[in-house]
Amino acid sequence: MQTLLGNERLKTALAAAFAADKLSHCYLLAGPPGSGKHTLARILSAAMQCSAGSRRPCGTCLPCRKVLDGVHPDVITVDAPEKKTVTVETVRRARADVYVKPNEGRRKIYLFPRAQDMNPAAQNALLKVIEEPPDYAAFLLLTDAAERLLPTIRSRAVTLQLSPLSEPVCVEALRRRFPDKPREALADAWVRSGGFLGQAEQLLTEGEALAGETLRFADCFAGRDPLGLTELLVPMERLRSEQLLPLLRQWTEVLSQAMQVRVGLPGKWEAARKIGRSRTTADCLNAVRSLQRAEELLQGNVLPGSVCGALQVWLNSAE
Ligand SMILES: [Zn+2]
Repeated sequence: MQTLLGNERLKTALAAAFAADKLSHCYLLAGPPGSGKHTLARILSAAMQCSAGSRRPCGTCLPCRKVLDGVHPDVITVDAPEKKTVTVETVRRARADVYVKPNEGRRKIYLFPRAQDMNPAAQNALLKVIEEPPDYAAFLLLTDAAERLLPTIRSRAVTLQLSPLSEPVCVEALRRRFPDKPREALADAWVRSGGFLGQAEQLLTEGEALAGETLRFADCFAGRDPLGLTELLVPMERLRSEQLLPLLRQWTEVLSQAMQVRVGLPGKWEAARKIGRSRTTADCLNAVRSLQRAEELLQGNVLPGSVCGALQVWLNSAE
């Protein structure tokens, strides 16, 4: 399961609130880009929906898995990524939905990925519902500019302020993600990012260009083009395992980015944004699972030719 690194005080306070069953219905998750707001929101949502008796989120029950995979019907993202601001209409639609009981969850959770982009009318519309919400409703407001929220909203929310990571914690996380980079580069990224892991990762990946195969994969997948995928994968059957693996990992990375785009994050590459615009989270998740199976086969010494053949079937079976 994904974990929030560092931030020990915040995690202790939240665990105590869960143990005492004293959760707020409105949290303000505040911190700069890459500080872990989205990770915290996912963990908090999973904990609220988790069906385990204690130590929530367990990470393994069905509600937890659905939240962590981004497919739980009672975790609702309130945003219109194509618009510059979050408008009053968007908030009103969510507000009307609040009074409809949860589909299957213990709670109905409304996630605002860029709360600071709500204009004043939208914020006032939200205020009305967080003043007197139904008891199953919870609101998670994510922001990198809390000062742009109305004081009346801030005073009704419990603020969870994300903190920078220490050098050892951050560098260790980067080392797992970028095993081939020298330690100095990782330490340098820690300094330049101000200790925020997401920013450090971005600094280290910015220079990485996507392979031509990855760009074509993104085009075919976004355009639901099974023939294109086959034409791409057939010549790849001749690659060696150690050539094929990094490509498949890059495809997985692009799909993960596409899922981030679906929940309102900017997305690092145009290839990911393209997929995010045309495919659902469930589509991306299925493809990621197929790629992971392919990776496991390669690591188990199955020949690249057979793996590419299997991938054609798996990736195209959803079409
Ligand atoms: Zn659980």
